[in-house]
Amino acid sequence: MANTETPKGFGLAIDFGAVAPAPDPAVATTTSTAPTEAKLLILGSGPAGLTAAIYAARAGLAPIVIGGYAPGGQLMLTSEVENFPGFPDGIDGPELMAKMRAQAERFGSIMVDQDVDRVDLSAQPHRVWSAGREFRAEAIIVATGASALWLGLESETRLRGRGVSACATCDGFFFKGQEVVVVGGGDTALEEALFLTRFATKVHLVHRRETFRASKIMISRVEAHPLIQLHMNREVIEVLGEKSTEAVMLRDTTPGATGAPERLATGGLFVAIGHKPNTALLGGALPVDAAGYLQLESDTTASQIDGVFIAGDVHDHRYRQAVTAAGDGCRAALDAERWLAERDASGS
Ligand code: NDP
Repeated sequence: MANTETPKGFGLAIDFGAVAPAPDPAVATTTSTAPTEAKLLILGSGPAGLTAAIYAARAGLAPIVIGGYAPGGQLMLTSEVENFPGFPDGIDGPELMAKMRAQAERFGSIMVDQDVDRVDLSAQPHRVWSAGREFRAEAIIVATGASALWLGLESETRLRGRGVSACATCDGFFFKGQEVVVVGGGDTALEEALFLTRFATKVHLVHRRETFRASKIMISRVEAHPLIQLHMNREVIEVLGEKSTEAVMLRDTTPGATGAPERLATGGLFVAIGHKPNTALLGGALPVDAAGYLQLESDTTASQIDGVFIAGDVHDHRYRQAVTAAGDGCRAALDAERWLAERDASGS
């Protein structure tokens, strides 16, 4: 059952900071004249970074937010967000981020729309370099997010937002009554496949190997689900469709297989092959787990480095929602504010 229409309000995730568009002149003026010293620097301008900025600014810290050449994080290419509390009719991702930014600026946050090139967190003040300038602060919140991994197909890029997505929680609803394809063999792919059965008439789960990487319980659930059809030893080599996704081409990856690629009709392709936390700019300054996510020091947002705090998807590979990232940004700002107050009180 192919769908030839672009689902209304369909959104998707983008790579944080992956593109560097020409800066808006008004924004560029703010960026180039921004101060370079503050009590608190916030790296990242998604929901985590901007919520941290709102809280820190209201606490009088006038934080500098270095938010990337493509500020706003993963919501910037999401056309409709329906699960962020407070917007019963939904809200466009970019509009939500613009509101968060305006709210942060209203209380005195300073926005710098540039990428961070590198950091030195080895001594006080902590130092951050961006577009040839050095920024200094006693406290830093790292909220640089994570980027979805993609298959790397030209047709996949072209149809992103037109049936191709990396987030079933965000976009699954728009595929009510359609057949969809999920790619991947880890817990995320299986979780997304199960989630999509709430909307789709059939979920085709495509995995490139004979066995899943996911946990046993997830495999059992997927195998037992009447709406999920498994396509093992298959990989998507092309997404078909002009204005919207109509089908994918599957290649048999079994060694020695010689059959022609098969066409599988679908209205949506959910790529669930993992995420990459945006930590390269840190140059290994903070410890990461096996999957590359930053590790928290305790049940607060503190990192292993005094005065450095962590918020959002750069450490959270479990929830990855705008609202959980925002909550995390709040926690990091409160932790940073308390840390700065204690430091001031002790005179260090
Ligand atoms: P994983 O790295 O675990 O799995 C990625 C999957 O995508 C693998 O099956 C891999 O295939 C496949 N893949 C990778 N690249 C490609 C490609 N180019 N083409 C086709 N397939 C590809 O990532 P996840 O996001 O699934 O999970 C990340 C971590 O988060 C894991 O530790 C997971 O357990 C955890 N997690 C936990 C959840 C929970 O507890 N509820 C929910 C979701 C995630 P192959 O197997 O062949 O390498």
